[in-house]
Amino acid sequence: MIRVEGLTKSFGELEVLKGITEHIAPGEKVVVIGPSGSGKSTFLRCLNLLEQPTAGKIYIEGECITDKGCNVNKVRQKMGMVFQNFNLFPHRTVLDNVALAPTKLKLLSAGDAKDKAMALLRRVGLDSKADNYPVQLSGGQKQRVAIARALCMSPDIMLFDEPTSALDPEMVGEVLEVMKQLAQEGMTMVVVTHEMGFAREVGSRLLFMDEGVILEQGDPREIFAAPKHERTRSFLQKVL
Ligand code: ADP
Ligand code: MG
Repeated sequence: MIRVEGLTKSFGELEVLKGITEHIAPGEKVVVIGPSGSGKSTFLRCLNLLEQPTAGKIYIEGECITDKGCNVNKVRQKMGMVFQNFNLFPHRTVLDNVALAPTKLKLLSAGDAKDKAMALLRRVGLDSKADNYPVQLSGGQKQRVAIARALCMSPDIMLFDEPTSALDPEMVGEVLEVMKQLAQEGMTMVVVTHEMGFAREVGSRLLFMDEGVILEQGDPREIFAAPKHERTRSFLQKVL
């Protein structure tokens, strides 16, 4: 589903990703953890070309998306992304937020997009908020709308960058619940998170990033029980 080979990314002099090679199979739920500044967000953003890799190759469903001739928009359509800060359109209703992209890109008629958006809002428990504006929602509700919006493009892969980090503690659960449901439905997911309970319960594989490399990876339960690297151990001691 995703194949990354020798991925590096520099910002000026600063080499943030130092050669990442990784395969992600269909249906995997990969959880990425690691200290702040280790390159987790940059890695996710390279996967859907929100950042242009400095070197290396990325294949999505067999297509090399780092080739010059690649259609970036087509690639992005396959991948939904959910950010820490929701990034909803403030002047659009909840329903419009969800229905907008497939309508604009003419993937669906306006009517079909609204039907689909409504069904997705029902799925995340927010159909009653369809006509509200983002400002009228709690953080947890905003994030559930953001997930519905990403799903409205029928992505094959969902990328989550610390989706619960900006939420008040009592709202974290409702968002993780939606993500868990998505995982159970078989979605391929890459999730950067500090929620170790989620990593343990939902993650099929855990990647520990440190200073621009994947230092350690494997079954989340095994890594939590017996990390191989000292740096993994000291990180886990702080967050578990
Ligand atoms: P993480 O998500 O693990 O906290 P990031 O991928 O956000 O880490 O950042 C890794 C490093 O890259 C940090 O040192 C950060 O300051 C730097 N960085 C990220 N984005 C940019 C950018 N657009 N320009 C310059 N430096 C950046
Ligand atoms: Mg980050």
